[in-house]
Amino acid sequence: MSKKYIVRCKSVNQNMNGEFVFNNSNFEAPNLLPGEKASVELLYGKDKGKAVVHEIIEPSAERINPECQAYGSCGGCCILHTNYDNQLKLKTDTARKYLERYGEVRDCIGLEERRFNYRNKIIATLSLDKKGRVISGLYEETTHRVVPITRCRLENEHAAEVMATIREFMDKGRIKPYNEDNRKGTLRHVLFRVSAEGETLVVLVSGNKIFPEKNKLAKIIAEKHDFVAGVVLNYNTKKTSFVLGDNEEVLFGNGYITDRMCGMEFRISPRSFYQVNTPVAEKIYTDAIMRAKIQPEDTVLDAYCGIGTIALTAAKLTNAKEILGVELNQAAVRDAKENVKRLGMKNISFICDDAGDYLNAAIGADIHYNCIIMDPPRRGASESFIKAVLRMNPEKIIYISCNPESLARDLRALTIKKYNVDYIQPYDMFAGTAHVETVCLLTRKAQ
Ligand code: SAH
Repeated sequence: MSKKYIVRCKSVNQNMNGEFVFNNSNFEAPNLLPGEKASVELLYGKDKGKAVVHEIIEPSAERINPECQAYGSCGGCCILHTNYDNQLKLKTDTARKYLERYGEVRDCIGLEERRFNYRNKIIATLSLDKKGRVISGLYEETTHRVVPITRCRLENEHAAEVMATIREFMDKGRIKPYNEDNRKGTLRHVLFRVSAEGETLVVLVSGNKIFPEKNKLAKIIAEKHDFVAGVVLNYNTKKTSFVLGDNEEVLFGNGYITDRMCGMEFRISPRSFYQVNTPVAEKIYTDAIMRAKIQPEDTVLDAYCGIGTIALTAAKLTNAKEILGVELNQAAVRDAKENVKRLGMKNISFICDDAGDYLNAAIGADIHYNCIIMDPPRRGASESFIKAVLRMNPEKIIYISCNPESLARDLRALTIKKYNVDYIQPYDMFAGTAHVETVCLLTRKAQ
């Protein structure tokens, strides 16, 4: 047994791990809150600087019992051991740590009633337990071992119902999950997309080109669950950590779902990006667009636009002269164009390109946008995009970010000479996890 030490937690870091100092060194441990006294075990080697809580000796008044049995082993959630108000406070603190130097960071906004079962995109990975029964769940945080989860607190409940059917079918029909090491078996993952009304798309991901039971399984899923609008088979035979492969075939119904957001219907394909928490995303989009105070003479660029949700919301809520969305993923652009057609909107178009390349080309062609809305992936915007924004010099920029660290890096480049940050608002889009979404408004400095 390793030695235990008594420590006092002073703060949490961006991973929501508790931080403490011991023998003049900094340590972090999951499941530890500011102010708590705990006995901990220190880790060494590659885990140097990390610790494991053995016992909480003086619990924080903010501590609660996590409402999930897999908490701690699955790695999906990391702040269920504290009440929701405190979860929001800890997220505000994280956002402040990275962003305070650019302006006042407002308190993180969350929807308490949506802190559970909000995920509209669910990925279940399949494996076998020791007795050879099919299990489904999430990978353990740092390995490829599947932690079985029959009911995840964050996911829409429809996924768990269908997964039970799939596991039963596999056990009865002796269908084996795909094994990444020996490349045998078939079903690898199941991806779900669920609309606000519960309409569900089930994407079966096969690691093998041959899946003889595919139609039988699709039929059983559709017959048993009337909320299923489509079953798609996706082939992913490569050794990869990506969930979806390039080829797919529709086995039942549609190959996409439609969801209502900001009063509009959106078509979403398996591969298109769509925010996982629709009601919070609605709040974020509306807030971002209102803050931009878009005028009739404005030309707006929605960069990293996905299926066009922000561009279309801007078209609906404002009378902008022109809106263009740019996005790299072809399937998402196809969805975006389809969405415009169905909604019959004018003055709005989409282009499939790298956001930086497009903006440089636009500058070369003397095209100007006076409002840029940007919503890049976790790594933030590319250097070429930021440089092009500075060259184009729009009056206002709305930056929507899911990572305060890359946001801070990009704000630094944008604020050196040209922009002020007038508004910084964090949102709890991913309740239960350490992630924070932030909306910023930047306006051009007087020259
Ligand atoms: N604004 C959208 C999508 C945001 S997610 C929404 O709210 O739904 C970020 C998007 O950026 C993804 O759709 C991803 O495909 C896209 N993307 C990633 N790299 C890109 C690049 N270099 N140029 C353009 N789009 C990119």
